[in-house]
Amino acid sequence: MPSAVPTVRFAPSPTGKLHVGNVRTALMNYLFAREADGTMILRIDDTDTARSTKDYEDGLKVDLKWLGLNWDSTFNQLDRIEKYDEAAQKLKEQGLLYPCYETSEELDRQRKLQRAQSKPPVYNRAALELSAEQIAAYEAEGRSPHWRFKLSGQPVSWIDLVRGEQKIETASLSDPVLIRADGSYLYTLPSVVDDIDYNITHIIRGEDHVTNSGAQIEVFQALLNGYKEGALPVFAHTPLLVGADGKSLSKRLGSLSMDELREQGIEPMAINSLLAKIGTSDPVEPRQDIDALKREFAFEKIGRAPARFDEKELDNLNAKLLHSMSYVDAQLRLRELGADQGEKVWDLLRANLEKFDDVASWTTMLSAPMAGQISQEDAQFCAAAAASLPDVLTDQTWSEWTGQLKSETGRKGKTLFMPLRLALTGRARGPAMDQVLIILGADKAKGRLNGEVA
Ligand code: GLU
Repeated sequence: MPSAVPTVRFAPSPTGKLHVGNVRTALMNYLFAREADGTMILRIDDTDTARSTKDYEDGLKVDLKWLGLNWDSTFNQLDRIEKYDEAAQKLKEQGLLYPCYETSEELDRQRKLQRAQSKPPVYNRAALELSAEQIAAYEAEGRSPHWRFKLSGQPVSWIDLVRGEQKIETASLSDPVLIRADGSYLYTLPSVVDDIDYNITHIIRGEDHVTNSGAQIEVFQALLNGYKEGALPVFAHTPLLVGADGKSLSKRLGSLSMDELREQGIEPMAINSLLAKIGTSDPVEPRQDIDALKREFAFEKIGRAPARFDEKELDNLNAKLLHSMSYVDAQLRLRELGADQGEKVWDLLRANLEKFDDVASWTTMLSAPMAGQISQEDAQFCAAAAASLPDVLTDQTWSEWTGQLKSETGRKGKTLFMPLRLALTGRARGPAMDQVLIILGADKAKGRLNGEVA
């Protein structure tokens, strides 16, 4: 199955909002496939009908597009039930899918007993011993079976692109349930059927699936009718994300949804840059476009330790990204905000931004009539500064003008510059004043220094 050009799939379950954990998996798939001119499939794992919703499905598509993680084709597992039925039939014919009638209470009791005897809580395969009469009796009681896949009991091994050589002892696993008593499929079988039908070459997912992979490889082998070398997809299991404190993110994932981050004004490329780099040997730096991340992606760079996700680092990256964002990249959004005042203004303002939309308040400050902040004790100084400001402003004006004010008034440092900044911009911090002055123009600057609304 694996060929030179990869086909990958990102397979979210639409049972919640897309969050940083699953975006990281999507991103790994995307970067790997796109760099090799491969194909990316978006598979919607919606067989859990009780928890899946169309809203979540629509939402995750919006989020992936917002992030720039586009896909070539998409499908829903619920549309392929017939295929899974065929596969289940094939497994039954091979004696690899067997009916079990235990209730969950009975299974619980069994596990407790095993634990009490210090045995691993592995399913005892009692269902394989059932006689035809016992089965008939269960059926007469109205019990319908759930179906388990019969693992080989042999070790399953593969070379994982992230974890290296892997070996799962299937003898220590319970035979996985593939079909619930209500006839619905758990994720295990549909995933393998789809991966075969869509010629998936690489399965890239979180390391919480490593044990699954042991069982799924045996399902692959059974459905492919015996294992041919090279016929299985290649696996890559990436370490999980944890918080900055090293603790699980699971309880906080709600607040780390794309929805939420977008609302906070986080740039998609800040998210992509961070998620592509944490837990790898590359430094965490902002990238303006996804192509750069693509070129830099390699499985060998991914470490085995959990990747630490730090919101502060995300905020930092977001600011850095804006500080180096070109006018061309910003222009459309500036227009939408009514904040497009040309390249020079953007280049001046971007260094002060933490969130893109903050730019609007700066452009308003530069262009709309406004009174600066002038304290009583600085009023005279500001008025004198207004009087000495030349009418024609150049790149040198600020330094010449403040130099002159310094020698005339004896003010220096903060007492010299801060009143001017406050009077001209209304704020204690902001962009380089030599440029602010030019953009304001002499009339506005004089007006504000004189305490007028200008
Ligand atoms: N729906 C599964 C999940 O979200 C997919 C796992 C896989 O990629 O096979 O965990």
